[in-house]
Amino acid sequence: MLLSMSGCMQFRGYTYALRPTQDQADQMGRFAGVCRLVWNLALEQRRDHWRRYQAVTGDNLNYVAQARELTLLRADVDFVREVSVTAQQRTLKALDEAYRRAWKGKGGYPRPKKKGVNDAFSFPGREVRVEKINRRWGRVKLPRIGWVRFRLTRPVEGDTREVTVTLTPLGWQLSIGCRIDRDTPDNGQTVGIDRGVTVPLMLSDGTGYSLPPEVEKRAKAARKAQHQLRNRMRGSNRWRKGMRRIAALKAREARARKHWAHVATTDVTRRFGGVVIERLRTKNMTASAAGTLDAPGRNVAQKRGLNRAILNVGWHQVETMLLYKAARLVKVDPAYSSQTCASCWTVDSRSRKNQATFVCTACGHRDNADRNAASVILHRGNTPGVEPSRWAGDEARTVQVA
Ligand SMILES: [Zn+2]
Repeated sequence: MLLSMSGCMQFRGYTYALRPTQDQADQMGRFAGVCRLVWNLALEQRRDHWRRYQAVTGDNLNYVAQARELTLLRADVDFVREVSVTAQQRTLKALDEAYRRAWKGKGGYPRPKKKGVNDAFSFPGREVRVEKINRRWGRVKLPRIGWVRFRLTRPVEGDTREVTVTLTPLGWQLSIGCRIDRDTPDNGQTVGIDRGVTVPLMLSDGTGYSLPPEVEKRAKAARKAQHQLRNRMRGSNRWRKGMRRIAALKAREARARKHWAHVATTDVTRRFGGVVIERLRTKNMTASAAGTLDAPGRNVAQKRGLNRAILNVGWHQVETMLLYKAARLVKVDPAYSSQTCASCWTVDSRSRKNQATFVCTACGHRDNADRNAASVILHRGNTPGVEPSRWAGDEARTVQVA
């Protein structure tokens, strides 16, 4: 999770693939199991407590009370005592925070954790050490588990605040939450970004960022594996094997996409202090595809294709990264940005010849369609509310904008 803080302090999350030894992996499994048990016991206790007492006393069962009970549990049960106490306290704190969020209406009530779904445990940053071994490998020292190697895919920056170890379809994974000072000084330069479908990110200066081919390759492989699953009996060994394969392919695709988004957004924010993007409601756009059963089939299919492209690019992810990496981020009205000429501000859908080319019907300005849109977006960010748009006849008015 990435949170933007006021001022120059902020939190940043890093994720890496751990390479534990078999002994360490076994131990991680036990840690996750005991933390899950602690969570479920504490949750059960809170539910009972709420039913029996809270209505009468108005008293909450809080973290302090449950941490005292944990001490008693550890004294009684050997396998609980063998797991780091801070990881268990962290679990109780997470439960406490989940309840607070739920009371404020910011989330659902905490639920029991399941084996194989929620295999994770955390340590506070002061209890772990993170070191770089060489260009490709790092290592982390976890309480009671010791040094565990991980693939160092990008450098860790800042003070380690929290470390979480999670079991994913690709094996054990390490998440490091850091507090850092903003590392991108504002150079005064501003750029507009169009989040196109043909090129995921197009800058107003003409730089385009394409997804690496392995992202689409992995998405395709996952879809193919999904298709093969239809011929297998649900619950059979072959079916289970197929399910595991799909989960791993999807996780790899997500990881490659996230890595790409990090590289692209870091490059953009190193070159430009200010970034202007469109305010897009991609959530609404994706939700509507499932709900348009009465629309002609062609439209639904088109929309589904577009949705897939949007999700592939992971705009929300890009936006979140820009939000914490850029010194300035401005979001502007997206209306007609793809049909507006960045040279004379005439709006005409006919200027957009195809996905790739823009040729203004009024002034003849010719440009890559995505770059033209990026320039319009940049202008909207620089001069809010003063776009001198001209409509080309009635043509533009017939165009519907979501
Ligand atoms: Zn023009």
